[in-house]
Amino acid sequence: MRIKDIYCESCWLFADRRSSNFRSDWIKGLNDWKHLSEKIKIHQQSQVHIEAVIVQQRWKRGECIDEALDEQFREGRNMWIKVLHCLMDIGLTL
Ligand SMILES: [Zn+2]
Repeated sequence: MRIKDIYCESCWLFADRRSSNFRSDWIKGLNDWKHLSEKIKIHQQSQVHIEAVIVQQRWKRGECIDEALDEQFREGRNMWIKVLHCLMDIGLTL
């Protein structure tokens, strides 16, 4: 990281580096100042950047990044708690 290079904060922090569309230019730093505005326009429309900004906004709101996965886990846990209560009731009844 050099001081004279520019970076995209959203991509640096939140971009999916496993994505096939991922390009590390905005993480390693750009110093092509002549074509900077053109490159910014292209980068702002890239799928990787848009997704990184969405994740960053969710993070700023304090939402869990894996909110859906967390909810699915809670539903599964609650279902097994109910099954255990039913089994205990059956055992106590017998
Ligand atoms: Zn970006």
